[in-house]
Amino acid sequence: MIWLRVILIVAIVIMIVIMIAWALLELNLRSTTKRLEAAGVTFEALTGRKLEPELATDQFEAWTHCPSCGEFDCHAMREPLPWIRQDWLAWNSGRTAWIERNTWTQTITSWGGHTSRVIDSAPEYPIAEPVNETRFATIRICKCGKEWGQK
Ligand SMILES: [Zn+2]
Repeated sequence: MIWLRVILIVAIVIMIVIMIAWALLELNLRSTTKRLEAAGVTFEALTGRKLEPELATDQFEAWTHCPSCGEFDCHAMREPLPWIRQDWLAWNSGRTAWIERNTWTQTITSWGGHTSRVIDSAPEYPIAEPVNETRFATIRICKCGKEWGQK
């Protein structure tokens, strides 16, 4: 049984070495980021572009910021779509089927085999709910995929 103790001690020593190495790497990465920030290296300085999603507006501007990624550009436009009940019903039935297919249930049992807890994940349906876009004059489309209305 002494070899089991030796293996256990070696495993603990290896784990401690890995944890120390990981902690040193993490500290090293943090200090690099701080040095870049201290030197004034920003996304704007590197690319010449400003990312300011807080400047996005629902009032029409030809050149505007994306509310998601902040890209300042003359974003593509499309016609606003009206809300159609059939579209919403199709979206809702698709969403219901998607949630039924993708719900992931985890059952946690105790040592005796009794169920102590059941966890249901609540997946988020990836397709946006159809909305009435006719209150907007145009819908802008960013390269990142974000679409938003402007009046
Ligand atoms: Zn964007």
